[in-house]
Amino acid sequence: MTEKSKATDKKLKQAIDARMAVETARKHQVDILSNLAAKLSLSCKGLDTELDNRLARFRSALVKGVSFENLSPLIDELVGLLQNQEAVQLAQQRDLFTSVQSAGKQLQKTKGLPDETRRTLRHLLDHEINNVQSTHDYIPLLDQLISFYHQALQTKLAANQGEGGSVSSQMAKQLLELANELVLEDESTDQIKVIKNTITDSDSLENLLDAAIKIISVIVKNINKERQSAQSFLTSLNQTLEELHHSIVSTSKHSESMNVEFNILNKSIESKIKNLNEQTQQATSISSLKELVDNELKSLSEDFIAKEKLEQEDRQMLVSSFDSITKRIVTLESKLTTYKKRLNEQRFKSLLDGLTKLPNRAAFDERYNHEMHLFNVQPSDVTLAVIDVDHFKSINDRFGHTAGDITLQVISKALQKSVRKSDFIARYGGEEFVLLMPGVSLENAALPLDKVRKVIKNIPFKFREKQIEITISVGATQFKKGDTPLKAFDRADDALYEAKNSGRDRLCTSK
Ligand code: GH3
Ligand code: MG
Ligand code: MG
Repeated sequence: MTEKSKATDKKLKQAIDARMAVETARKHQVDILSNLAAKLSLSCKGLDTELDNRLARFRSALVKGVSFENLSPLIDELVGLLQNQEAVQLAQQRDLFTSVQSAGKQLQKTKGLPDETRRTLRHLLDHEINNVQSTHDYIPLLDQLISFYHQALQTKLAANQGEGGSVSSQMAKQLLELANELVLEDESTDQIKVIKNTITDSDSLENLLDAAIKIISVIVKNINKERQSAQSFLTSLNQTLEELHHSIVSTSKHSESMNVEFNILNKSIESKIKNLNEQTQQATSISSLKELVDNELKSLSEDFIAKEKLEQEDRQMLVSSFDSITKRIVTLESKLTTYKKRLNEQRFKSLLDGLTKLPNRAAFDERYNHEMHLFNVQPSDVTLAVIDVDHFKSINDRFGHTAGDITLQVISKALQKSVRKSDFIARYGGEEFVLLMPGVSLENAALPLDKVRKVIKNIPFKFREKQIEITISVGATQFKKGDTPLKAFDRADDALYEAKNSGRDRLCTSK
């Protein structure tokens, strides 16, 4: 082997080695690349069926060691499909972004969200959401949002329950007030009382609705009873009138027929007397005269007896007919009296408060407007006081509504007893009373009003073996020139407000 050929051989060997090294390195790179491509293609699996098929072919080509030249068209197809897929993903991501954002904004509008939640939510929507780069990043965000929703829902539910509670307790209050205003028959009043007690124990809306329906049914029954009573009176009035009519018609018919008979009898008597007269003049002997008179008188007396009988019958007929009419009228009159009494009672009752039996607000308004009218015609001293029981709600809350009702009854009795005869006290509503003192100036009213306050404070209330002191706040004012009922009432109310705000259990006045 020549030196030259030795060198060439060496170069060739080096070249082969180098080529081998390149080939190995390339093979290695291809292996790594194929591996990566296979892994990537697997991770892309499931996004799109077509992409899946192509990726499977790509992987098998890689495994078979298909040349890069042959792989290239496969890769081109895949790139196109992957780019499509990316666009789809981007659109989906954008959609997700907007929906997360709008959901968050809606959540922000939810009332009753705790401050802390609201703050975190604002931060999430203003900042964190913008840092999200991939769908994957949304998952914890969604998780957070779901927990927010949950929290908000809970808060809302709690608020709703609270609100529902206050709505239903408000409804309960309204229902009880309505029930107290009802003025019904004794029996119905007892029924209402039973229903009211169930209201006390229940705070659910269903129970309230049930109670409301029961109250309505009692009222309807009452109305029916009233209507029946009115109807029975009218029926009896109608019957009496019919009988009266019938009796008048039959009496007059009877009288007509009587008249005919009377006329016949009268005529017969007349003719007999005429006949007797003539024959007497023609009589020639006493005995014939006697015989004539005997006969004629006999027949005449028969006629008179018949006439007398007829007259008696007629009288009897009239008497009995008048008797029955009188009886009818007497019953009708007594019915009319009870009916009138009932109507008056109803009117009187409708001016009374059902629970306390004090005059109610309607009665007060009537009297108040009247006093104001008198004052405007001829000014005089008139004091108006508004009285409100202090912390009355807590009596209901602690001892139940029935205890509250009894308390109101006791307070009402005490109020009525401690005011003068010329004063007018009414239950204005709830635990509020109004007192009109005609002829009393505000200055002179202060002492008696404060006495009333002390009377109530000293009532020895005892609930569940516990001595309880109940106090009232009083706001008073005096009618003044230019007053309207509303103006004067507002002044008294302002004074009451002052009494409440300055510690309760006191009298405040407003001039
Ligand atoms: P304040 O001292 O501020 O007047 O407190 P208060 O609790 O008396 O006043 P508030 O107006 O908050 O509550 C009045 C309560 O009176 C609420 C209502 O349930 C109760 N109430 C109103 N009418 C009746 C009723 O006829 N019977 C009963 N038992 N409670 C009533
Ligand atoms: Mg009160
Ligand atoms: Mg009140």
